[in-house]
Amino acid sequence: SIQQTQNDVIPRYVRVNTLKTSLEDVIDYLKREGFSYQGTPGRLEDLDRLSGKMFLCDLHLKDLLVFSGKTDFHDHFLYKAGHIILQGKASCLPAFLLNPPVGSHVIDACAAPGNKTSHLAAIMKNKGKLFAFDLDAKRLSTMSTLLLRAGVTCHKLANQDFLKVDPQNSEYKEVKYILLDPSCSGSGMVCLRDELPETQEDGRLQALAAFQLHCLYHALQFPQLERIVYSTCSIHSQENEEVVTACLQRNPGFRLVHLLPDWPERGHEPLTQCLRASTAKTRTHGFFVAMLERRPAQSDKET
Ligand code: SAM
Repeated sequence: SIQQTQNDVIPRYVRVNTLKTSLEDVIDYLKREGFSYQGTPGRLEDLDRLSGKMFLCDLHLKDLLVFSGKTDFHDHFLYKAGHIILQGKASCLPAFLLNPPVGSHVIDACAAPGNKTSHLAAIMKNKGKLFAFDLDAKRLSTMSTLLLRAGVTCHKLANQDFLKVDPQNSEYKEVKYILLDPSCSGSGMVCLRDELPETQEDGRLQALAAFQLHCLYHALQFPQLERIVYSTCSIHSQENEEVVTACLQRNPGFRLVHLLPDWPERGHEPLTQCLRASTAKTRTHGFFVAMLERRPAQSDKET
């Protein structure tokens, strides 16, 4: 079937959880188990030749390993012990790009089930404060388990509507970084896409885009915010470029950051500073990432 073919093209990505282990230790462990380490690939097509127990380092993201799509780690010791996280490559981009400094204060606005939260905590080396919100209590309880297994300790979870979090609350006065990964149509998820009708119901997309814009706009109200990453697993520009464009029009104090110059797939014109991802061009699910930064305050001398 088409679905089978497409699933085969997306490799299995494994993020090494540096809160518990190191890239070197995981590679050594797997080699001792009979896996065969092939180094870093020269080009994208090298991923298509992965089979059996072969694995590679990722082309763009450090601490990310790549296996054949058929590899299953769900029963593996390294997974159960929280040393590795089974997280797709595209879903590793937001935290990697936000790159909050060790000790900083960060908000993960729509956080459950928390793979990106645990990635942020690893980048922050568990130092600083990571405020994580989600509306869905059930997804939050899954998240607690996941964060415990991953050894995350710098977080504060709240079962709260992000849109009702008060940016003026003194608790958030040092927040300079926000990761915003709101609910979306999920149209980039390859396995879902084949089951969805050709065109999504337009009303649903409109409602999602309005919610996403509302979240992005709200996030920009945090007084010390310097940088925000906005991401979706949608392929619809209505939820991606159009949301970002509408938000920037209302917030001239922010601008887009040009992300990863070597990344092969860009946001739709004119938002080429942003990234897109797809099976064809990046061997991932469909994804979109934008990063906005506050413009430096203009001094009176500049005009
Ligand atoms: N970032 C997560 C991760 O990497 O594991 C995935 C987040 S998922 C795409 C979107 C999440 O937003 C869902 O868990 C949903 O419950 C949550 N959500 C929806 N509306 C929200 C709101 N108003 N405030 C906070 N969270 C919300």
